[in-house]
Amino acid sequence: MGEGANSLFPNYGRYPLAFVKGEGSRLWDENGKEYLDLMCGLAVTNLGHAPKQVKERLKDQVDQLWHTSNLFHIPNQEKLAKLLTDNSCGDAVFFCNSGAEANEAAIKLARRYFNKVLGKPDQYEIITFHLSFHGRTLATLTATGQDKVKDGFAPLPEGFVYAPYNDSEALEQAIGPKTCAIMLEMVQGEGGVNPADPAFVARVAELCKQHGLLLIIDEIQTGIGRTGKMFAYEHYGVEPDIFTLAKGLGSGMPIGAMVGKEHLRSAFSAGSHGSTFGGNYLSTAAGIATMETMLAEKLSDRAAELGDYIVSTLKEKLAGNPLVTEIRGLGMLIGIGCTQPVADLITAIQEQAVLVVSAGPNVIRLAPSLLISKEDLDRGLDVVCSVLSKQAAAAV
Ligand SMILES: *Cc1c(COP(=O)(O)O)cnc(C)c1O
Repeated sequence: MGEGANSLFPNYGRYPLAFVKGEGSRLWDENGKEYLDLMCGLAVTNLGHAPKQVKERLKDQVDQLWHTSNLFHIPNQEKLAKLLTDNSCGDAVFFCNSGAEANEAAIKLARRYFNKVLGKPDQYEIITFHLSFHGRTLATLTATGQDKVKDGFAPLPEGFVYAPYNDSEALEQAIGPKTCAIMLEMVQGEGGVNPADPAFVARVAELCKQHGLLLIIDEIQTGIGRTGKMFAYEHYGVEPDIFTLAKGLGSGMPIGAMVGKEHLRSAFSAGSHGSTFGGNYLSTAAGIATMETMLAEKLSDRAAELGDYIVSTLKEKLAGNPLVTEIRGLGMLIGIGCTQPVADLITAIQEQAVLVVSAGPNVIRLAPSLLISKEDLDRGLDVVCSVLSKQAAAAV
């Protein structure tokens, strides 16, 4: 593509497309061609591209101040922390710059709580699940229950144990004397849009109580209204000790957050963890505007309604399509499970100027803006379904 493409490491498989402008659910490429975005930059731009409220707040902040470091109070950071704790089960927030860093902070907090507060330094193991995704740092790729992200990176840090997802009995077996926490997603995003079974989540919470373990919920993809509640754990009637956020929190500005309950506060004393950029004026300005818009416009409710509509529309239009095995999801995080790899289908959809993304090899993932118009949504779903129908017809 651009002249500088060879100056980058080739660690991404990129489509031959580059966008230069975005507004709402529309993107425009270098040639002025318009695309309809049903993937939101990987479930990030939940309010659409360049949403007015966030843009205005950012512009004001750009004029005022960008960065001072965490050696000083940052009023925006405190304001966003309060917005998060007022609207969740959490009591204290640590800000960072990405999802992996938020999970890294959660892992560190869990270990340090057992080590320093409970005086149990030998209880450091965290149980995670097959097909989970928790990030790309050494600790979080080790926490991730997929071999492909670990290839070539040994030696990996100790202290992670894996169990099959949605299997309460296997989880019980995995708990041992070294276990300190159980960490999971309410809907496995990268792993294939796999919602957790309510009975399983209830059992996870029960086992945590029974064994004195911390419940860590990775809400990096599911949080900030995406699933039809502000945080996906609300669907399940459980309260995590720690939950992590990133993707949707800043509408595209880099920000991550780790939110914990009161009893964990003292595990992080001054100097125990930190980040130079974490929670700086610009990223937290974006976070405040995003949260305020989500709350004022009750966008989680809209995500619940539109999500139901998407699932019922897809079920109707794809009924009898032999390529489609299942349509599943929660709110506006939806997967179309297919009998074959979906890479070519996604390219064919892209050729019709609609953007979707895979979740694992055989699942097409839809994560549209929570503010997408019904008209745009219908048009996008038409394109997705007609490409799947054509492909099914061609395969006969
Ligand atoms: C994207 C994602 C991460 C990693 O976030 P980064 O910002 O890419 O580090 C972690 N957990 C889940 C569930 C995610 O979807």
